[in-house]
Amino acid sequence: MSVTARHLADGDAAGTVPSAQSEQRLRISEIFHSVQGEADAVGWPTVFVRLTGCPLRCVWCDTEYAFHGGQWRSIAEVLAEVAAHGTRHVCVTGGEPLAQKRCLNLLAQLCDTGYEVSLETSGALDVAEVDARVRKVLDLKAPGSGEVARNLWSNLAHLTPHDQVKIVIADRADYDWAVERLREHALAARCQVLFSPVYGRIAPRELAEWILADRLPVRLQLQLHKLLWGEEPGH
Ligand code: SF4
Repeated sequence: MSVTARHLADGDAAGTVPSAQSEQRLRISEIFHSVQGEADAVGWPTVFVRLTGCPLRCVWCDTEYAFHGGQWRSIAEVLAEVAAHGTRHVCVTGGEPLAQKRCLNLLAQLCDTGYEVSLETSGALDVAEVDARVRKVLDLKAPGSGEVARNLWSNLAHLTPHDQVKIVIADRADYDWAVERLREHALAARCQVLFSPVYGRIAPRELAEWILADRLPVRLQLQLHKLLWGEEPGH
């Protein structure tokens, strides 16, 4: 059964959600259908729900348009729009989605509806209450981001094997920092670790060669959507 069919058939599952939660509203920048460009679900057709707002200001941020604006939408409206796209995978992203507390309810309701749900989070906000069914993709901010002081290290205790840690690397100093954190926190023993080059700042091949030379237990990640569509919005 397709997810859409399942969602419709389970309309009654959605109906079991307390209506007060379904009526809760979130500030949404955009909902769109594309190919997942990052993390473990890379390549899957996915619906992205981008929440507005972020308390960080990474210097290489590529979603600054999501800092402000957007529209207030109820969780029920978001679920209906997600269902209309007919995909199994849903990615809740931002901005920093956890900056809106009601995001936790959205995540739980997406899981209840039967989707494979991932959450892209900056790593600066507490993930302790995120539904355990959600695959967390948690950034660790390297110095080149300008936001290294915002890393909430207690979040590492909440990672499970289906989660992922992502470190975006702008230069060799970021790489060296990432290697130290990898060893200090035994990151690869907790979950998958992804090293991703800053688009346009460092040659992916160079990062690949550093990873190979150091025999690191990490995955090189290129942003597939940028290879396919460049900086075009909506992907
Ligand atoms: S946490 Fe993400 S959305 Fe926020 S500034 Fe950094 S890259 Fe941009």
